[in-house]
Amino acid sequence: MASFEPPASGTPLKMGPDGKLIVPDDPIIPFVEGDGIGPDIWKASVRVFDAALEKAYGGKKKVVWHEVYAGQKAFDEFESWLPDETVEAFREYLVGIKGPLTTPIGGGIRSLNVALRQRLDLYVCLRPVRWFSGVPSPVKNPGDVDMVIFRENTEDIYAGIEFEQGSEDNAKVLAFLKEQFPQRFSKIRFPDTAGIGVKPVSQEGTARLMRAAIQYAIDHKRPTVTIVHKGNIMKFTEGAFRNWSYEVAEKEYGDHTYTWSQWERTVAAKGQEAANAEQDAAKKAGKIIVKDAIADIALQQVLTRPTDFDVIATLNLNGDYLSDALAAQVGGIGIAPGGNINYSTGHAIFEATHGTAPKYADKDMVNPSSVILSGVLMFEHLGWQEAADLIVKGIETSIENKTVTYDFHRLMEGATKVKCSEFGDKIIENMG
Ligand code: NAP
Repeated sequence: MASFEPPASGTPLKMGPDGKLIVPDDPIIPFVEGDGIGPDIWKASVRVFDAALEKAYGGKKKVVWHEVYAGQKAFDEFESWLPDETVEAFREYLVGIKGPLTTPIGGGIRSLNVALRQRLDLYVCLRPVRWFSGVPSPVKNPGDVDMVIFRENTEDIYAGIEFEQGSEDNAKVLAFLKEQFPQRFSKIRFPDTAGIGVKPVSQEGTARLMRAAIQYAIDHKRPTVTIVHKGNIMKFTEGAFRNWSYEVAEKEYGDHTYTWSQWERTVAAKGQEAANAEQDAAKKAGKIIVKDAIADIALQQVLTRPTDFDVIATLNLNGDYLSDALAAQVGGIGIAPGGNINYSTGHAIFEATHGTAPKYADKDMVNPSSVILSGVLMFEHLGWQEAADLIVKGIETSIENKTVTYDFHRLMEGATKVKCSEFGDKIIENMG
């Protein structure tokens, strides 16, 4: 029987006055195992996590795993898809991890993941995308893909402010637009049959996302940050996102960055040669180049010249497309990790990026790498790099040895197919 018993031992993480996490040696980490394939994946993952910690720290550091409930299991046990206790546990213990959750049909919740992100204000969706040697990929040089996407997680068209065609509210919004902004209203091609959505993009929301992206680039010695936007069309939302992002880079991180915006100003004032010289000098001085790309072109270029991209800062919808398109380049959905983070409060939930794949539930068959690599992100977030590195090594070696789950096996010649749990064993064996 599931329950929300408090953890018997362990110490909660805390946020220090300097905005840095205070990480005890026995942090309590809430986890949701997830629906569908979630339990199989969690069983394999938690063994890998514990083995890596044991190997890295010889028992000095360990996680006290604290199960909390969401999704189908929560609904079956507590008649709630997302019990308040779960949100409170993530709030109290700051950092947690979760498997995939069924999206309930009806019942007023559009997505449990979105609900969690909104309630904890997890404003960054962090999606690192890199290739593991040997993973089947549709592109020629998947090893060139090594990017980290910072997707804004709380604004944009995802805010969920929509007015259904034919509804009373929709009629009110259209009437308001017609009365107050007749010219703009006249641009609605078929007003009688139009659904309406609102796309909020704020300066604060942009600034905090951009700070996180630049700080990451500084901490991880990444040479560029690319702002991806569609500002050529949506000037006051995506265009403003571009401009505010450059402002943050210049005003708050001027010692660390050189921006294309600065380059353009120097071109206007002194000509292109002078601007190029200025940029070269900044690169030599180790400054991060902050540039921008229109979303559609970026989607081409991440494919045609991936080495031009390192850290990417982008809005919610662009980030959604971009992270899945990039994941496909390096082996797809079974292996892409993710984290949802509020760098100001310290709250973070790391999670599988795939769904519950119900047809594979309880078959001990699927690839657990997405949750395991999300755990790697979590350990990195806690500053436990040694454990993170061991897990990455275990995965790299297992794939190089061609011992893989069904999804890679069907695309790799001469590979040995192993179960989800066996893949976990292989990772542990191959940690070094
Ligand atoms: P899905 O569960 O991601 O599954 C789609 C396909 O992706 C699977 O049939 C399988 O492909 C492959 N796949 C997914 N996870 C895999 C893994 N760990 N290892 C190997 N292959 C994997 O997407 P869906 O069927 O559209 O969604 C099912 C449910 O999940 C829905 O309720 C949806 O709302 C929910 N969902 C939850 C999350 C989340 O919690 N983060 C995200 C997305 C969707 P093959 O059939 O080719 O083997």
